[in-house]
Amino acid sequence: MLDFSNLSVVDAHCHPYRRKDKLSADEWVDEVSFGGGSPQYLRDGGIEVDDATLAELQRVKRDTLYFRYMLRRLAEYFQVEETVDAVVEARNRAILEEGYASYANSLHQAGKIDTLIVDDGHPLPQVNLENFRAQVGVEVLPIFRIEVLIQQLLDEDIGWLEFQRAYDDGIASALSEGGYRGLKSIIAYRTGLDIDPRSRSVDQGMVALEKIRRARGRGGDAIKNLRDHLFCRAIERCIDFDAPLQVHTGMGDWEVHLDACRPAQLMELLRYPAYRACKILLVHTGYPYHAEAGYIANVLPNIWCDLSEGLPFAGNAAARIIAEVLEMAPLSRVCYGSDAYGTPEPFYTSALLGKQALAQALQDLIDDGFMTEAGAEETAKMILSDNARELYGI
Ligand SMILES: [Zn+2]
Repeated sequence: MLDFSNLSVVDAHCHPYRRKDKLSADEWVDEVSFGGGSPQYLRDGGIEVDDATLAELQRVKRDTLYFRYMLRRLAEYFQVEETVDAVVEARNRAILEEGYASYANSLHQAGKIDTLIVDDGHPLPQVNLENFRAQVGVEVLPIFRIEVLIQQLLDEDIGWLEFQRAYDDGIASALSEGGYRGLKSIIAYRTGLDIDPRSRSVDQGMVALEKIRRARGRGGDAIKNLRDHLFCRAIERCIDFDAPLQVHTGMGDWEVHLDACRPAQLMELLRYPAYRACKILLVHTGYPYHAEAGYIANVLPNIWCDLSEGLPFAGNAAARIIAEVLEMAPLSRVCYGSDAYGTPEPFYTSALLGKQALAQALQDLIDDGFMTEAGAEETAKMILSDNARELYGI
């Protein structure tokens, strides 16, 4: 069986977080689980949240295969019983005894994670990256989320000329003196990926902002027109700065409009002549529509697939996702990512799962005569770190 545990990892898409030294078992579960609803979500629906409801929310968060896998790997790491209480107590004690930075760094070392490429648009308010860097003890390279800037500008009482200038300047300063390695967009969440490439016309942005400002007919399609225009402008700025653009595709939290997030919705835009020079990373590789992302990375030259989110949150699908993305995507266009957040532990367990799933998927390719063991080792290195290093110029 292949074993990639010694290979180093660049996490191509994840999020910074604030230091949390001591957590209760329930708090830790809330930090590291994916989905499962929240008390606020239920209250907003007029549902009374009592102790039994809170216990039920905890139960479904702890009942996913992703969570069970994480718990097992952490119980092994800490050499404790495989229960949430024992694992949380062990992580709290380790932080108390060895200090937070040393604890976080030990977990990253154990997963051989040497670089985190972080989208600091989540959580909000933004995490101070200097503090985060000092706390995790590995290379941290930030990505600038355009929707944070767009929201700031919408909240200001400014007209189109100033809006446009501030948007361009904000991106330019992030990509130059700000040290950001690329841009990120979650337009999929907001108004969907069916973006008309001709939205780049400056007139479209101007008319849309005018309509929003006057709330004429409550804006109608104006907000989509404005976001589409600003997305196209972000592509042009990425080309100017030779920086990649991360685009959210596929699943996300409960707010996502899943059918508006399919990678295939982006095709018209991606093949538009004026945008062909932009390097685009399809974040989450569009899971559960990951085969579409793999296909797009095959037929268009500047498209990368980021494996995060399906891996690790879809649990035992990890090896299948890798295999299905590799059906069409060139080996040099696929990057490991975790989409991890909250605390150091899921960064570590995601790296373990990624390496295990890669070993399974590549072993099948060896067995089926597609590659040798040496080729599989080389491929794993590319997916775990080299492809991301090339994309981000690390
Ligand atoms: Zn993310």
